[in-house]
Amino acid sequence: MKKEQLIIIGSGPAGLTAALYAARANLNPLIISGNEIGGQIAITNEVENYPGFDQILGPELTEKMRAQAEKFGTRIEVDEVLEVDFAHGAPFKLKTYGSEYEADCVIVCTGASARRLGVPGENEFIGKGVSYCATCDGFFFKNKDVLVVGGGDSALQEGLFLTKYASRVRIVHRREALRAGEILKTRAQANDKIQFVFDTVLDQIDGDGKVQSVQARNLQSGRAERWQTDGVFVFVGHFPNTSLFKNQLAMDEQGFLVVDKTMQTSAPGVFAAGEVMDPLYKQAISSAGQGCQAAISAERYLEALHDKELVK
Ligand code: NAP
Repeated sequence: MKKEQLIIIGSGPAGLTAALYAARANLNPLIISGNEIGGQIAITNEVENYPGFDQILGPELTEKMRAQAEKFGTRIEVDEVLEVDFAHGAPFKLKTYGSEYEADCVIVCTGASARRLGVPGENEFIGKGVSYCATCDGFFFKNKDVLVVGGGDSALQEGLFLTKYASRVRIVHRREALRAGEILKTRAQANDKIQFVFDTVLDQIDGDGKVQSVQARNLQSGRAERWQTDGVFVFVGHFPNTSLFKNQLAMDEQGFLVVDKTMQTSAPGVFAAGEVMDPLYKQAISSAGQGCQAAISAERYLEALHDKELVK
């Protein structure tokens, strides 16, 4: 059993910022990063709204955050937490593929994962035309026809990225009003390769070894049509990665961790930051800010714990 003062689970902007602050406070933090370092921002192409950077690629921003956290002594284990025991108080227990840990304090920054459409054919064709990441898979759709499902910032941003490769990008949204912000809306509307199909959902994805067509349905008229296409990119939001904490930490009805204003979860000594606890803002910068808050609270918690032990 390895003993740690502070373990940070997750390595997106929230986790890496929490680590930066914790390392600078001499808390010697250990990040257990998950399979890859960086979370969602690491698979984002261009980031234009992270203050201080006019434009930066998601992987480059991640690399800078990682290097800055490590410069002050953060240690990173590329491993996955499989099991936790937070319900019995400190020291908190965590089991990964490689090790077992005890920690005086934990910051949960496990982020969120892409939601699926849940229609027939979707799971079958993942990696064969169905994708949740344009940056990762766009290259395979040179001069092809693709559909993007969703009307939020991700759908438009990723749809715009896909125009670098695809011959046509149809953005299929279930309502008429887009959820995305004005800048992306204006850019997407001005792009010749992008077409919007409103009030429409996909009921089925079909093909023979790879995606060849979809069954689309207009929600106003009820009319169903078959469309030929080569790819379906799904950007219909995210769900928080909290299954690990079921019956251990309080969650809201959508599964987001509940925290107080110091970012503390229902278990004193366990803090949370980023999209795992944030149903509202979900920006790289807001996650980073929450990571900073959680680290400062963790520092205060550990100081109080230390003072108590001195008095004993
Ligand atoms: P989002 O804002 O939650 O949008 C999800 C979209 O998918 C909505 O348009 C929603 O429709 C649609 N949708 C949900 N379930 C669906 C279903 N079952 N079938 C069809 N459509 C469905 O998610 P997001 O676009 O991933 O963005 C997440 C957060 O990241 C947001 O806060 C966003 O601002 C941020 N973000 C920012 C940027 C940027 O600033 N450049 C880029 C990417 C993401 P309705 O609109 O009808 O609900």
